[in-house]
Amino acid sequence: MSCKEQNPVTRSLFDKVILPVYAPAQFIPVKGKGSRVWDQNGEEYIDFAGGIAVNALGHCHPNLLKALHEQSEKLWHVSNVFTNEPALQLAQKLIDNTFADRVFFANSGAEANEAALKLARHYAIEKFSPYKTKIISFNHSFHGRTFFTVSVGGQAKYSDGFGPKPADIIHIPFNDLDAVKAVIDDHTCAVILEPVQGEGGLTSATPEFLKGLRALCDEFDALLIFDEVQCGMGRTGTLFTYQQYGVEPDILTSAKALGGGFPISAMLTTEAIAEVMHPGVHGTTYGGNPLACAVGLAAFDTINSAEVLAGINAKRELFINELEKINQQFNVFTQYKGKGLLLGAELNPKYHGKARDFLNVATEFKVMILNAGTSVLRFTPSLVITDEEIKEGMQRFAQAVAKVVASS
Ligand SMILES: *Cc1c(COP(=O)(O)O)cnc(C)c1O
Repeated sequence: MSCKEQNPVTRSLFDKVILPVYAPAQFIPVKGKGSRVWDQNGEEYIDFAGGIAVNALGHCHPNLLKALHEQSEKLWHVSNVFTNEPALQLAQKLIDNTFADRVFFANSGAEANEAALKLARHYAIEKFSPYKTKIISFNHSFHGRTFFTVSVGGQAKYSDGFGPKPADIIHIPFNDLDAVKAVIDDHTCAVILEPVQGEGGLTSATPEFLKGLRALCDEFDALLIFDEVQCGMGRTGTLFTYQQYGVEPDILTSAKALGGGFPISAMLTTEAIAEVMHPGVHGTTYGGNPLACAVGLAAFDTINSAEVLAGINAKRELFINELEKINQQFNVFTQYKGKGLLLGAELNPKYHGKARDFLNVATEFKVMILNAGTSVLRFTPSLVITDEEIKEGMQRFAQAVAKVVASS
């Protein structure tokens, strides 16, 4: 027996035992069903955050539960010394429904991007020259927290303070094709972007920008990488966002909603690019884990249905209608951003820097929302949230807005 004192499992324990890199809400969720969550005291919340665009089918969706239960009694893990059925099935689905021919599984968005960036560098070095290593990325982008991905991401607040960074990465303004033209050259191996910037404030790429990037990448033999970790898997109304633009990437990364709450990510690419990889060049112990892939398979089949995808834009409209009612009364928003249920409400300049206040007060009124930066509120609910849940959550959110407005 340990002689350490047993602490009660309360929010204050977080401040003692968890590395202080987060500032979670004051309540502890213990149960979820659909778009509702309950805390330790039995208080009920409406969830417009969806675990940061992860719980695309809400909490404890029956299809995911069934897949998890069934697989949990068969096989949990074998490592990549062996392959497994769920991984092969999920890879086949991803290939059948996208531009891709090959899939690499990992466990998080950052790892999928790490694999994408290593692949792009390796491809350029193998096929062209050891000096073809420049990566073009965009201001306000977010690609994860490993040291390579955080260095490629366009937010210094996340990448500074850790010593020397991987070299030959350049950041320029998003949606600015002239800026790309000014820096892209024969030494460029990749251009990476989120078709809708998630963490950076929900800015969508313009169609001209994506088309222009495709043409420039082709001209300079650079790979175009779409990070769809947040905007993919149905979130914006199509399976992947690039499918709305008609511009295909060379590499695409997916995570978050891919497992509907079970950690899994994937990097997709074409045969011609995959060819430069060989056993041992890259890998991960858990990648393609059967439990994760079985849940991913169920999530994929459920999300990639007309029933789910066709409802997303109507739900967005309802959200915007409800937000606009709040706005008529309180004049807090200047515009709505993003696509589908990756929805942003930009705050009126009077409230710039205060997004987190709205978030905190929202929890007092039993609704969970997110911010994207300090001046945009973000809503990434379940893709199958009901209209009633949207309306009820918005009534609660209206009270939160009233309180923030009254106290500022
Ligand atoms: C969340 C996110 C990541 C990082 O994913 P993790 O699972 O947290 O590593 C990368 N790119 C984008 C666009 C994201 O939204």
